[in-house]
Amino acid sequence: MTIQTIGVIGAGQMGNGIAHVFALSGFNVVMQDISAEFTAKGLATIGKNLQRGVDKGKMAAAEKDAVLSRIRTTTNLEDFKEVDFAVEAATEKWEIKKQLFETLDRVCKAGAILASNTSSISITKLAAVTKRPEAIIGMHFMNPVPVMQLIEIIRGLATSDGTFAAVMELSAKLGKTPLACNDSPGFISNRVLLPMINEAIYALYEGVAGVESIDGIMKLGMNHPMGPLTLADFIGLDTCLFILNVLHEGLGDPKYRPCPLLKKLVDAGWYGKKSGRGFYDYSGEKPVPAV
Ligand code: NAD
Repeated sequence: MTIQTIGVIGAGQMGNGIAHVFALSGFNVVMQDISAEFTAKGLATIGKNLQRGVDKGKMAAAEKDAVLSRIRTTTNLEDFKEVDFAVEAATEKWEIKKQLFETLDRVCKAGAILASNTSSISITKLAAVTKRPEAIIGMHFMNPVPVMQLIEIIRGLATSDGTFAAVMELSAKLGKTPLACNDSPGFISNRVLLPMINEAIYALYEGVAGVESIDGIMKLGMNHPMGPLTLADFIGLDTCLFILNVLHEGLGDPKYRPCPLLKKLVDAGWYGKKSGRGFYDYSGEKPVPAV
């Protein structure tokens, strides 16, 4: 099947980035979320990010308009009956994704591939709630999607060679570099990244150093582009906690147990940059430590 129309579920930070890169590469996109307010916000973010390219002289204003004109928004998943390929980027919760994959499987045409941008949920388990397990695959974009080169491609137990080849080809059409791994808790990226972030939170929790010292030491000492606490705020502390729980339960090793301080921040609704407060407070001109 020729892939021309892409369905993107979720217009949050990842969903709008995914819609952005597909539309930029010439695909038609239908972007869905649970309310018109969320889809409008997602579309506005895409417009703002494209405008940055125009301001820098990297893109003509007419091209920006053409990219935006390829994105349609909806709150109704039934509109996905026309899509050739769907990427789910909704909130990282099993119950939400399970229900979405059941619906996608019912609504989408036969032969359409259904991908998930999940950071940690089992692709094999998601595939098992559908009648097309061979067409289910993980397509894990990195944040911010328009900037980051990698897409981690995750093969579930039942993912067919044809599905895998189609997704590798599609990723290359987006100008990205797809790298494959097998389905396992946290895949490669988060299995390696999240224990480092969790350890940084434990160091803060134990009073080994403050927020800025921890971030500064890792940034300057390891040549990381940002410190682990800044990165956690950027990913979303709710998402970080969810991934750590998946690693903890899925691999059964206490070394993955989430730091109580992370749980406390999530309980408080301090989700990081997206909620305006996490390890840093983002309400002023410059982020300042909030814990
Ligand atoms: P987000 O909170 O910014 O956006 C999630 C969006 O999903 C929200 O707009 C929400 O309204 C929507 N949503 C919730 N339930 C829905 C439903 N039933 N139908 C349609 N939309 C629904 O979160 P995000 O950071 O964009 O994360 C989305 C997914 O991407 C998660 O699976 C996450 O693990 C994954 N991911 C996140 C990052 C990151 O750095 N944040 C990186 C890679 C992958």
